[in-house]
Amino acid sequence: MPRSYLPEVRRGKVAPKKERIRPIIERLAVEHADAKIALTFSSPLELLVSVMLSAQTTDVNVNRVTEKLFLKYKRPADYLAVPVAELERDIFATGFYRQKTKSLRGTMQRLLAEHDGEVPEDFDALLKLPGVARKTANVVSAERGAAQGIVVDTHVRRLSQRLGLTKQEDPVKIEGDLVRLVRREDWARFPHLLIWHGRRICDARKPRCEECPLALDLCPSSRIGV
Ligand code: SF4
Repeated sequence: MPRSYLPEVRRGKVAPKKERIRPIIERLAVEHADAKIALTFSSPLELLVSVMLSAQTTDVNVNRVTEKLFLKYKRPADYLAVPVAELERDIFATGFYRQKTKSLRGTMQRLLAEHDGEVPEDFDALLKLPGVARKTANVVSAERGAAQGIVVDTHVRRLSQRLGLTKQEDPVKIEGDLVRLVRREDWARFPHLLIWHGRRICDARKPRCEECPLALDLCPSSRIGV
């Protein structure tokens, strides 16, 4: 189980989360007006592959690999036309390359067999693709303008806990709390705002509360005045 940030929350210090969620989103939207997905892609297939490769590595690393990968692999059939070892070599730098190759090949086979080689828009169909877990399906749906849930990665988990938006540890349960709290029209941008805030200000070890627009009245974990 990853580290919990729930002990940092001081109960009763701020208004109920239902009253705070809108101003939290509004202030973060001003602070991080440029917040968006950090992966580089130009089609639904490239989006899906990028997100699948991003497990256990950084977006910067994935972009470095996909810059060359997408010149060579343009359609699902291209991923199946090369020997397994060649695809493994081409994605090696993203880590866990054997498992990722297996997932990519399985996904491409299914895209060809059941979806005419296209990435399905249906959330459940996405979830049935080999190696595509809920987080991946959520990212793909959100980027295509049809968010079906809220992406919960390590930053979203940490920020949601520190901001007192959830008391849960498990990502699926955290997502359940967030979708009840955040307006559906904000489901796609909300995780980006938390991710960018987490990267720039609310660091896991040393949150820079003195620079945070939420510190004085919206965050129960603020270290200002402690
Ligand atoms: S006030 Fe501090 S702990 Fe709270 S969100 Fe801002 S940086 Fe993070």
